[in-house]
Amino acid sequence: MERVTVSFTLNERAAEIRWSSGSCGNSGCKDPECCCALCAQPLGVAEDDHTHDPECEGCERCEDNVPIILFRGEGKESKQAAFHAKCFSKLLVKHGQG
Ligand SMILES: [Zn+2]
Ligand SMILES: [Zn+2]
Ligand SMILES: [Zn+2]
Repeated sequence: MERVTVSFTLNERAAEIRWSSGSCGNSGCKDPECCCALCAQPLGVAEDDHTHDPECEGCERCEDNVPIILFRGEGKESKQAAFHAKCFSKLLVKHGQG
């Protein structure tokens, strides 16, 4: 199995992450297990979401159809947390400033 190692440092807001045991994988799902682990809003655009233009060629909400997912633990004990790109960036330690 190929493993990709990404190195980043989470800031103190990592304490706010709501870890879930897994989402159903459907975009725009309102299930708490499937929502953003930080802001608790649905990730991506549901197929029956009439507030989103079906002809859209790419907006912030479309981009969130591919959320950023963190994993913690192994096997049955493993947890995951999915985020909007914007929310995830709030968790990262910013180097070089402030
Ligand atoms: Zn779901
Ligand atoms: Zn979010
Ligand atoms: Zn869009």
